[in-house]
Amino acid sequence: MKLITNKVYGAEDILPEDSYKWQFIEEIMRGQAQSYGFKEIRTPVFEHTELFNRSVGDTTDIVQKEMYTFTTKGGDSLSLKPEGTAGAARAMLEHGLYNDGYPIKVYYLTACYRYEKKNYGRQREFHQFGMEVYGAPSPYADAEVICAANSIFDRLGVKNIRLEINSIGCPDCRPKYHKALREYFEENKDCLCDTCRTRLERNPMRILDCKEKECSEIAKGAPKVLDYICDDCKGHFEGVKSCLDAAEIKYTVNPTIVRGLDYYTRTVFEFVSDEIGTVCGGGRYDGLIEELGGQHTPSLGFGMGMERLLILLDKQGIEAEKPLNCDLYVVGLSEAAKLKAFSIVEGVRNSSLIAEGDIVGRKLRPQMKYADKIGAKFSMVIGDDELTANKAVVKNMYTGAKKEVPLDDGFYEAFFSFYVNGAQDSLMEKLGLDIEE
Ligand code: ATP
Ligand code: MG
Repeated sequence: MKLITNKVYGAEDILPEDSYKWQFIEEIMRGQAQSYGFKEIRTPVFEHTELFNRSVGDTTDIVQKEMYTFTTKGGDSLSLKPEGTAGAARAMLEHGLYNDGYPIKVYYLTACYRYEKKNYGRQREFHQFGMEVYGAPSPYADAEVICAANSIFDRLGVKNIRLEINSIGCPDCRPKYHKALREYFEENKDCLCDTCRTRLERNPMRILDCKEKECSEIAKGAPKVLDYICDDCKGHFEGVKSCLDAAEIKYTVNPTIVRGLDYYTRTVFEFVSDEIGTVCGGGRYDGLIEELGGQHTPSLGFGMGMERLLILLDKQGIEAEKPLNCDLYVVGLSEAAKLKAFSIVEGVRNSSLIAEGDIVGRKLRPQMKYADKIGAKFSMVIGDDELTANKAVVKNMYTGAKKEVPLDDGFYEAFFSFYVNGAQDSLMEKLGLDIEE
């Protein structure tokens, strides 16, 4: 077979045999978000490029190297969202969600786009689950958001994932740190990559996050931000740690975390696994809302990589709940019987069970083979004899038990009682108990 084209490099299809795994984690994410009082926000896949330049920051790898930016026919510069925070913040401001008072808590599930080299756990189109809180300066907010992310790993039963936290200070203490960094990197300037040399003046902290080997080697010996933060930031960081201790959430302080986005202030955190690296990253961004044209609004959030989470579940043998199988498969043998079968299948579906019939035009035997393949729990064959007698036999495909049922309105009650008994029979069979007639 020769297709005219294949999927784009770095993008992945999620096939029916895997989509239930996505639905499983999404359901847990939505459920946890709800428990923490967050509501869903959905924002467009593209935004004006300016939004990301200003929020993510124009000296970051994301903006400098990874963004999908294009000019529209009307001459606007748009970019596919490389992350979820900026769009959510823009929408919050644009629609005046703050008018209802603070805090505002939103979550999202979104595709993100970054022009990166495809790798294990790294794609050009990937998906993030994220949570954002606006208007919450208290360290309790930091702890709540960290606990929310943690609760998702807990609910999924993920093991060996560590929480690392750090504080990267605020605009008051940052200049002192920048000065120390600049002095340090100035001495090693010749070894830095071209991008980092341009960052030296404008944003030396970005050098700490550079993936180039030489830069990250030099970065190891750089001054640590925790030694430079002001008393307010220190107090805030201590507050966050106390809350995490109170909630019995284990963490380590990792003074090298700076995060790859410019908008972060004070608390930053990552959930890291040795198996797949960083699965979730987030932090406080007290200046971002102002940067976008809003009032000063202390805020924070995180993004969790869904592909990486799924890889981790797979590696740890954590299985998603499998989709439910077909409850009833109905075969119709003649033209008239096929119509009857069709109407019964529809009726069963309307009662929220899963029912199927033939839509391919197969004969009886291949239909029964198909019913087996889709794991149908019950089957029923209707022919002209059954139509005349207005009765047919439902068979439990697992136990072999049979029951005669009417083909009129009485069908549903008769079938459902057999269905419920059948469910009990299967359970008893599973437990190795005798099934009595
Ligand atoms: P990394 O250091 O791995 O590049 P990052 O710091 O760029 O990650 P964030 O911007 O914080 O990542 O995004 C949050 C999460 O989204 C990451 O922890 C990761 O799980 C996921 N993620 C980021 N980029 C990709 C990608 N290209 N493919 C798949 N998942 C990604
Ligand atoms: Mg990255």
